[in-house]
Amino acid sequence: MSERVYFDWNATAPLRKPARAAMSAALELTGNAASVHAEGRAARGLVEAARAQVAQLVGAEAKNVTLTSGATEANMLALTPALETASEKRPRDRLFVSAVEHPSVASGGRFASENVEVLPVDADGLVDLHALRRAIARAERPLISVMLANNETGVIQPTPEIADIVHAANGMLHVDAVQGSGRVDCGIDALGADLMTLSSHKLGGPQGSGALIRRGDIHIADPLIKGGRQERSLRAGTENVAAIAGFGTAASAAADTWQADARHMAELRGQLEAGIKAATPDAVIFGAAAARLPNTTLFSVPGMKAETAIISFDLNGIAVSSGSACSSGKVTASHVLAAMGVEPQHTRGAVRLSLGWSSTEAEVKRFLETWIMLAGSLVKERRGIAA
Ligand code: PMP
Repeated sequence: MSERVYFDWNATAPLRKPARAAMSAALELTGNAASVHAEGRAARGLVEAARAQVAQLVGAEAKNVTLTSGATEANMLALTPALETASEKRPRDRLFVSAVEHPSVASGGRFASENVEVLPVDADGLVDLHALRRAIARAERPLISVMLANNETGVIQPTPEIADIVHAANGMLHVDAVQGSGRVDCGIDALGADLMTLSSHKLGGPQGSGALIRRGDIHIADPLIKGGRQERSLRAGTENVAAIAGFGTAASAAADTWQADARHMAELRGQLEAGIKAATPDAVIFGAAAARLPNTTLFSVPGMKAETAIISFDLNGIAVSSGSACSSGKVTASHVLAAMGVEPQHTRGAVRLSLGWSSTEAEVKRFLETWIMLAGSLVKERRGIAA
């Protein structure tokens, strides 16, 4: 049995070796990071070193990084009316989220549902900037949440342009940069983000760790988890030191290698897409006209069923996913493709391939050989021809 091919990096990335080592070392410590004795100070040292590493990845100050249990929690922490600056203490009156956000943003965070509005995207999955301008003009102190890159299609939003529009309207911009980190430039200043979310496990750190990064003068007046004074009272609870150490180490590795990794992934993704197009010329690659992450391809052959394709790949040793959200094993229509106006007969077959820094040409070759072998039966199935 040959080794498995893992092409589902947007779901989670493998743990990087240095992150694993940092976690093992951290697990040997006993101290509580809040304790003043030497053991506590050692744990605190690891947490603060990791905070600095995460800050460095996005060009922020370490004191503006709040470590959380993951991106979902960071998004919930960010999406609150209680965001203050020195000159503006009144609550944010309305939240605007793009139609292609991850469910943890689409849920509206801590805003009342009647104060949450969805911003349309165009056929490429890009936020409609005219609609954005018009919509936020109706609010006095809007908060806007637009992801850096989409987890299903890889489409990259024009975040700096969005930031200019938002700031001209007295708004604040939150950017879920989970899928962009380690793949494209995530400098918080260049993006124009006021608040930014990262997830450890998309960077090669452990699952269950993440961060919200704030611009320096923003104060979150309503913590999500209240209690002890950890994380400057923004996130109570004893720190998960080992996970945080792993996250920091992964962030540091990503900061060092993301540009070379991005070139490597783009090369392999190009081979994948060329191979898919050659084998099945009627294959559609979603978002292909827009700027995309270098590692992601969401494609479909009209009429093909994603469930069948994913199971067939799995049986052949290849892990891929459907572009759609999976709940209780059932593949439901992708809200991302629906928002892009893609017809259901195309969305039903959407299969996502997502690569990473250790993906290889041999894996791409094996995927394409498998696709050529499977496409015939998947095509027959879609045309109702008995296989
Ligand atoms: N935002 C995006 C864009 C994501 O892809 C994910 C993970 N699928 C999340 C948020 C949630 O991240 P976490 O698993 O760390 O809660």
